[in-house]
Amino acid sequence: MPQLSDAIRALKTSSTVALNAKALELRRAGVDVIAMTAGEPDFQPPAHVLAAAHEAIDRGLTKYTAVQGTVELREAIAAKHLRENGLRYSPDQVSVSTGGKQVLYNAFMAILNPGDEVIVPSPYWVSYPPQIELAGGVTVTVAARAEDGFVPDPEAIAAAITPRTRAILVNSPSNPTGAVIPEGVLRAIADLAERHDLWLITDELYEHMVYEGSFTPVAQWYPERTILVHGASKGYALTGWRIGWGCGPSEVIKAMNRLQGQVTSNANAVAQYATQVALNSVEETAAFQAMTRGAYRERRDVIVAGLNAMGLPTPTPHGAFYVMADTRGIDPDENVAGAVLLERARVAVVPGTDFGAPGFVRMSYACSLDQVRTALERIAEVVA
Ligand code: GLU
Repeated sequence: MPQLSDAIRALKTSSTVALNAKALELRRAGVDVIAMTAGEPDFQPPAHVLAAAHEAIDRGLTKYTAVQGTVELREAIAAKHLRENGLRYSPDQVSVSTGGKQVLYNAFMAILNPGDEVIVPSPYWVSYPPQIELAGGVTVTVAARAEDGFVPDPEAIAAAITPRTRAILVNSPSNPTGAVIPEGVLRAIADLAERHDLWLITDELYEHMVYEGSFTPVAQWYPERTILVHGASKGYALTGWRIGWGCGPSEVIKAMNRLQGQVTSNANAVAQYATQVALNSVEETAAFQAMTRGAYRERRDVIVAGLNAMGLPTPTPHGAFYVMADTRGIDPDENVAGAVLLERARVAVVPGTDFGAPGFVRMSYACSLDQVRTALERIAEVVA
């Protein structure tokens, strides 16, 4: 066979996706595995959102839409950000894509030239570095410490800025750490972007999962240099529907649309309509989000207490639905996620190495409370 491209040969498989697939495969083969791999809400979307998808099919809303998404959905997104975050976007400052992942990739492609650096606090979500590198950029990681609750340090970020820096990426609440970055820290990072004339990318997929404190909309300070990345997967439990959106200055949004128009065109039309209904049914959606938030919070309390009690230090995250457990006490060098937790405890998790945090594992508690409890029992047995 002729060779594959250098870029693709250098590209790693997404471990969140691969390990989740492995857990599901083991389950199909009859192995009783608890999947704490992919961050996927175990809740079904509200009934009226499901009904909206049926309605879209019945009404024939199944054709191509505008590449950047229907104007009705983009209006609903703009209304959401005004209502909940005090941000003012016109529909032409909104781009709808196939999940938050595609929004991020479009954004990197739109702003990076070869060799441009993007500062990414670590631990970071697995797909940031590969996407940055596919777009020709260079990932510059700045480590946040477990002792600081994984909150990045603006001074360390400032020290990483070079003449090649093009963007700073922030993600609060964070995947994988669950850290909710305090407003003052986010402001200090945004000020750095302003002072050094950089793009600021803010990944806000976990906005609706904050358990203590409050969510900070980063685009409030420098909207002319901020690209907001959001989507329906987490807060609206619409993972498989693949709707993400980006908001920002119309020049960059137009560039992202231009790219998307050559690559995938519009995101799924039926899912766009269902998302529009989810966003516009303000009270029902808020009630759904409050219900799921309460459930996640209870699971978080159980998992954090359980892991710490068995001697796996785990900071209490204030948002998202992940914990980062320090597994160096089990074995600093071994593949704890695979050889210990999956093979012996039958609990599938993602190794911290894939998030730039060797010695830790990421566990998603977006599964049932019973599963969280059983997973803890199994891990405790192996640890003992
Ligand atoms: N974002 C989720 C996670 O980190 C889903 C998997 C993925 O797309 O990476 O688990």
